[in-house]
Amino acid sequence: MQTPRLEIRDLVRRFEGRSVVDHVSLTIQPGHVTCLLGPSGCGKSTTLRMIAGVDMQDEGTIHVDGNLICDTVFRVPPERRQIGLMFQDFALFPHLSVGENVAFGLKGPKAEKRARAQELLERVGLAHYIDEYPHQLSGGEQQRVALARALAPRPKIMLMDEPFSGLDNRLRDGIRDETLALLKEEGASVLLVTHEPEEAMRMADEIALMRDGRIVQRGAPYNIYNAPADKAAVAFFSDIN
Ligand code: ADP
Ligand code: MG
Repeated sequence: MQTPRLEIRDLVRRFEGRSVVDHVSLTIQPGHVTCLLGPSGCGKSTTLRMIAGVDMQDEGTIHVDGNLICDTVFRVPPERRQIGLMFQDFALFPHLSVGENVAFGLKGPKAEKRARAQELLERVGLAHYIDEYPHQLSGGEQQRVALARALAPRPKIMLMDEPFSGLDNRLRDGIRDETLALLKEEGASVLLVTHEPEEAMRMADEIALMRDGRIVQRGAPYNIYNAPADKAAVAFFSDIN
């Protein structure tokens, strides 16, 4: 079998003696989207923060392409993990142009950085805004710029924490589809956190269903949807029509 792009093994995070992440293991295959799906408070964001390196686990290991990046004594700093991040609050830098926002995390000659920004802005259909400022863009457009910014440095892994939940319902489906298309084109390996089963069904190659700090089921979306692990999983999926 192929070496997973990301593999976390038995991650544990305790707050005040309570394990909010309790022996969580999961993998992402190269180029795949894995959704970490579960109700609010089950430990999704805490898991993502440990993978990003902004929080540290009490137990367990994280490997990228088979290389250890973090255990309880060794830790590669966040900026050297080649991991991109996108949150619901995707705030762009208001004083930088759209192009400068996208190029922000890039190194090298200015012309090269601008060319990469231009390329990504073309992919999201916003190249004409390259010299405009974020406040001139709609919420949905800003979201696409944030995605371009996160992808610009070609991260090995994209971590996305409920990135669509701040968007208007009417926009959300379209932006989900566009985002997925761009992630696939760029060959990104993605861990997408969501509490919405519908979103996971729409976007995931694999779903890891999480509850009370644990992964209760893993598999292809339709396998999980058609054969939920237990009554709680059935109830969780029952909102989808
Ligand atoms: P989710 O993202 O699934 O909604 P979180 O990972 O944010 O869940 O939180 C899981 C649990 O851990 C929650 O009960 C939350 O209150 C708790 N928690 C998260 N961060 C901290 C912290 N820094 N200190 C204490 N408790 C925390
Ligand atoms: Mg969260």
